[in-house]
Parts: sequence; C-alpha cells; structure tokens
Amino acid sequence: MTSSFPQATITGYPRIGPRREQKKALESYWAGRIDADEFAQAVHTLRIDTYHRLRELGLTEDYAIPASYSHYDHVLDTALSVGLIPSATTGTDFDLDEYFALARGTAQRSPLEMTKWFDTNYHYLVPELEDSTHFKAHPQHLLSLVSEARAAGHLVRPVLVGPVTLLTLAKTAPGTTTSPLDRLEELTAVYLDVISILAAAGVDWVQLDEPALVTDVPGFTDEQLAEAAGRAYATLAGASTHPKIFVTAPYGTLRSGLSALSSSGIDALGVDISAATRAIDPGYLDRLAAEVPESTHLVAGIIDGRNVWAADLQESLDVLTGLGREALSVSTSTSLLHVPYTVANESALPVDVASWLSFAEEKVTEVEALTTALTAGPDARAEAFNRSDRARRTRAESARVHSAEVAARTASLADDDGFRTDYATRRQAQSALEIPSLPTTTIGSFPQTAEVRRARADHRASRIDDAAYESAMKAEIDRVVSLQEDLGLDVIVHGEPERNDMVQYFAENLDGFATTDNGWVQSYGSRCTRPPILFGDVSRPAPITVEWSTYTATRTQRLVKGMLTGPVTILAWSFVRDDVALAESADQIALALSDEVADLEAAGIGIVQVDEPALRELLPLRETDRQAYLDWSVRSFRLVNSRVAPGTQIHTHLCYSEFGEIIDAINALDADVTSIEAARSRMEVLDDIADFDFVRGIGPGVYDIHSPRVPSVPELTELIDAALAKVPAERLWINPDCGLKTRGYSEVRASLANLVAARDAVLARD
Ligand code: GLN
Ligand code: ZN
Repeated sequence: MTSSFPQATITGYPRIGPRREQKKALESYWAGRIDADEFAQAVHTLRIDTYHRLRELGLTEDYAIPASYSHYDHVLDTALSVGLIPSATTGTDFDLDEYFALARGTAQRSPLEMTKWFDTNYHYLVPELEDSTHFKAHPQHLLSLVSEARAAGHLVRPVLVGPVTLLTLAKTAPGTTTSPLDRLEELTAVYLDVISILAAAGVDWVQLDEPALVTDVPGFTDEQLAEAAGRAYATLAGASTHPKIFVTAPYGTLRSGLSALSSSGIDALGVDISAATRAIDPGYLDRLAAEVPESTHLVAGIIDGRNVWAADLQESLDVLTGLGREALSVSTSTSLLHVPYTVANESALPVDVASWLSFAEEKVTEVEALTTALTAGPDARAEAFNRSDRARRTRAESARVHSAEVAARTASLADDDGFRTDYATRRQAQSALEIPSLPTTTIGSFPQTAEVRRARADHRASRIDDAAYESAMKAEIDRVVSLQEDLGLDVIVHGEPERNDMVQYFAENLDGFATTDNGWVQSYGSRCTRPPILFGDVSRPAPITVEWSTYTATRTQRLVKGMLTGPVTILAWSFVRDDVALAESADQIALALSDEVADLEAAGIGIVQVDEPALRELLPLRETDRQAYLDWSVRSFRLVNSRVAPGTQIHTHLCYSEFGEIIDAINALDADVTSIEAARSRMEVLDDIADFDFVRGIGPGVYDIHSPRVPSVPELTELIDAALAKVPAERLWINPDCGLKTRGYSEVRASLANLVAARDAVLARD
C-alpha cells in the first residue's frame, strides 16, 4: 500500500548549508585540501542535519521532505540521471571529478554554459543535446540519497526536473537535426525506467518539476507544450509499476498545462498560489477549482518560496479553505532555494524589520501552522497566527516603511516626465565634451586587489577609521587613474574600489533597504550572494558617489565618467517589497538616483553611466505581461536621467548581447551611449542593432573579460573592423565587454594596452 501525499510539504530547500558548509566543502575539495571521502562525509552530514531540522520544524510525515540536494546544480543532476549528458557513475553516485568538470570545465574542456533559471537569480547548467545522445537511466545518485536518508530514519521524496522542462532548457549542439522536444517520447521512457527503479527500491512518491509549463517558451504555443506534457505524464502515470507522481508548476500559473496535467493521471499537482502570483493571474484559483479533479491531490503552494516576507496566515488560510477540497496539502510556491536559511542568524537587522521576515525555516513553520489550522482551526497555532498578524500590522503602520515625502514625489510625476531633449540636440551639445574619434573607455570596475578588500573589511569592522578608509580608497583611485592615463584611455573611471557589489553598495547608501549578515542564497555552484532587502520607501539621505567621482576628476585632465547602478538592476538583485508594486519602488529608486546624477553634473562630471545589466532578467515569463514591465522599467531608467542638461552624456551598460524582444525597450532607454557584450559573439549582435533605429553611440565589447586570456592587437583590430562594418565610425566606442573586477592586474593592463593599440592602428590606417 503506497502512502498518501503528506499534508505539509515544501518543494525544495537551500543546499548550501546554514553556515555555507557546502560552499566550504566544495571549495576545499576543488583546492585539494580535502579528498573525495571527506567531501562526501561533509555533505552527507549537511543533508542529514537538514532532514532532522526540517522534521523538527514540522515536516514529520513520510515523503514530506524533498531530497532536493545537489552538489552543484539540479538541472545537471537530472540530465545525468537520464543520460541527457552521458556520465560515468561510480557505485552510488556520479563520478565527482567528471561531475565538476562538466560544471566548471577543465584545462581541456570548457564547462557547460550557464544561464538564469526562469526569472530567478539562480543559474543552471545548460545540457547539450546531440543527435547521438542516447538516453539511459542512471538512478544511482537518486537511490543513494534515498537510502542514506532512510538509514537516518527519513523517508524523503526524490526530485527531478520534469522531462518537458528538461528538454526546453536543453540546447542542441551544432549540427543537431532534431529539436529537443522531438525526443520527448524517448526521454519519457527513460524517466519511467528511473522512477520504476525508485519504486522497486521502496520509494512511494517522486517529484517532477515542470516550471516550463508556466512560461512562454519561444517556438512553442502554450497548447503545444501542454499537449507534450499531457502525453509524457499519461505515459508515466499509466505504467504498471511506478511510485506516485507529484508534478509541480512553480514560478507562475498554468494555462493549457492545467487541464493537460490534471487529466494525465498524475497523483498530485503542485501549484503556485502565492499572493504575488495570484495578483498577476487573479483567475487562477477559479481555474484550479474548475479543472483539477478531486482524484488529483492538490498541493497548494501558498507560502511564497521567493520573497522574504512573513506570510499573512489568516488570508492564506481563507484561500486554502476557499479551495473547498478534501485532497489538499499545504506547500511552498517554489523551492526555498531562493531564500536564506533563517532570520535567527541575523543580529544586525533592525528588530522591527526582522520581525516582518520569513526565510526558509520560518516558511516551513508557516506551512506547518497552516496545515494544522486547516483541520484544527487557527487557535491551534495561535502563536504563529499572532506573529503573522503582528508582522502585517506593524509593517503597514511603520514610519520606517512609509514616507509621505517619497510618496508625494512619485505621485507628482507626470506622464511626460522622463524624456530628455531629442538626441540631435544632445549630440550637438555634447560636442563640447570634445570626445575623440573611436573613444576608448572601460565599463567601470578595475581589479579588486587584496588590499582594497582588506581596507573595506577593516572599515566595516571599525578596525580603521573613516579617514584611514578614505585615504586607502583615494590611493587606489590614484593608481587606477594613472594606469588609465598611461594606457591612453580617453574616458576615465574611478574603478569602483569602494563597492563590494554594484547593488549592495547602493542598498547600503539608500534609505528603505536593509542588508543581512548571513542571508546567503545560492547563485550557482558554490557562489552565493546576499541580496539586500527592500522594505520601505526609498530615498537618498546624502550623495553617494559624488565625492569619489569629483576626487577622480581632480586627478586627471581627461574626461571622467561617473558610475551608478540603475533602478531595475537594484530591484532585480534585491528582495523586493510585496506591499507596493515594483513599478512604484522603481520610480522611488529612480528619483533618488536622479538626485545623484544631478549632483554629479553640478560637480562638473560630464559623463554618467547608469548600469542596467538586469533589464532583461526581470522580463516576465508570460508574453502578455511583458509590455507593462518594459513600460515601467524603461521609464524608471529615463527618470534617473531626465533632468540632466543636453550636454551631459548618459551611458548605459547591459551585460548581454541577445536583445531579441527587448530591442525596442533598449532603444527607448534613450541613453547617449550603450555598451554591450559582443566579443564572444564576434559582433554578430550588431546585426540586430544595424536594422534598428538605434542611432546613438554604441560600445560593443571587444575584450571578453570572462576569460583571463589577453586578446592580441590583430584580434582586437579585427573586432573593431567587424564593428565598423556595421556601425558608422562616429557612433562607435571601444571598450571591454564588462567590468574588470574579477580579473587580475597583469592581464587587464596587457589587454587594455592592446585595446588602445588596436584603436590607434585603425585610426592611423584611415
Ligand atoms: N560598472 C559595473 C562594473 O564595471 C558593471 C558591472 C556589470 O555590468 N555587471 O563592474
Ligand atoms: Zn556587464
């Protein structure tokens, strides 16, 4: 007899460890400080401790805990488990070195490509499909997670990326003739092998994640994807022996996929009904009521897996009871991978702000409290319901959150705010800057040396005072300025030594944001970030960058470019509010930054760059939601710059080169100069732009800063020529692909010297 689905569950949990134990184990193993056995022991302990903790927090039923652990990436794990990537497996696990070679590359082979997982800041490894790919079950890793947990007294639920999502995320290797989804049937048969083997090992439930079904996947209609999913799951659910199948649809709402999955015969369906998702698609609850039969167990993902706010438990309970279903469980909308472990690890957050937050552990408690309340009423979990109610009320009333002044300022914005004078007038006015032909510049940051990092850390820990810190930074600026002068760069930057991170730095200097001590979330592999928390109306208590930029200008006769991070990127890399629209927060940040731009301009800085590398990242997963997003995001960027004089030159930097559907938006940013990544695509990106009404300055990167390789002068000359074939010389800027922060000085010096030499060679020739 297989067990029924647990009443309370979550669909995934962070895996880096509450004290980043996994990160430390990974990095020690990679550096050769520990061997494979020690690594295995460290992550074994982490997994078992996690299961114990989750049980303590209330996930006590069999199969309530997902086995969502991964050494590096869950997409890679699934691809290996079904042979989409061929693998050698050792007795019970993947071959570790081969696994990390795929993820990180070796001297001989480059790593798998990495890209963002849906609209989150997690990066997955992109599996490559070839005609010769032979799918095959490799369930050893899944089996070992199950048996290890069982030995410690836990029945955990294996998790795989579902077949439809796996294929839509895969890319085809050059020369491949079939498109990935053509191979769904074949792949489904191998999924069936994998889960049948799990069933034979005594596993009652497996989880298959299908976020692709809540997105618009280029090249397919929603119906086509749904039909594919319906077929795949009918095969899996219709087979004679298999565990019960739980399919999740996180990060948004199902359209055609809802009836396809409901009628496929799967045993449980996990849906995202977080308040944020319901706000975007208010009809979802009704569609669930109409389309999910009682025979399908509904797993209601009501606790938001991606935000950091304490849930409104009473409202959540009302939604759950409103569903009116017998076969109902309580869960998270997405994996909790996207939030830090626990608020209890934070000691420096303002106490009121801390009381409004729920990280992963607190969210598990919320799931448990709702589950109990569903049968026993809210009084049975009065403490949790009271906490939720208090958090909601104190937050709504807090003077820290609401500023009448900020609200008045955004409310007074007019529809035509945000537009500068026409470009022709600006171009004329900017000729006073006397920018030379084919001007050279960099994207902003210079390598962050150990001394710079130490000075910042010492200052944060009060080991050095403000004056000592300031002189350390100024000394660094002096070095970076004279280096740029020696190299012959035309537009000088200060190098950003004072910034730990381009978003956190601004969050620390704006009111309305809090930063955490231990709020780490996984970005990819062992890489973690600590996103700032935007909790209130945003304002700028004092100028932020002005002093550094004006100091820089005193050190050189050349043009100096000020450097800011734009509102969309600040939002994209922070935890955002759930009590006001993103567009409102964007306007608030934009107005604060516009004061900064005005101050820079008044201080004589004639060029200001406003970076928006995340503009494309926040693009909604559904096409129908995209225009509204692009409207507010573009407007917020323009608001930053709308008050500057025509003669002040505004640059922007975007970290990618595939403009696709956002090309109109990029054009609408109306920056005077736009720098983009182009070195790796060898200027192909300019084809998109050349066809376009993109008549302003453009700086396609000629130096790929993601690699330590120093590009040669002929190579750079060739790229500049390739750019000149597509862009008129008077519009072209010569710059690297991105900031130089992660590189070393020796390669940066050599590469920039070559960049200037290549530019000079091109100029001398004409
Ligand atoms: N100005 C930033 C830097 O140079 C831009 C970084 C980015 O685009 N991600 O580091
Ligand atoms: Zn960049």
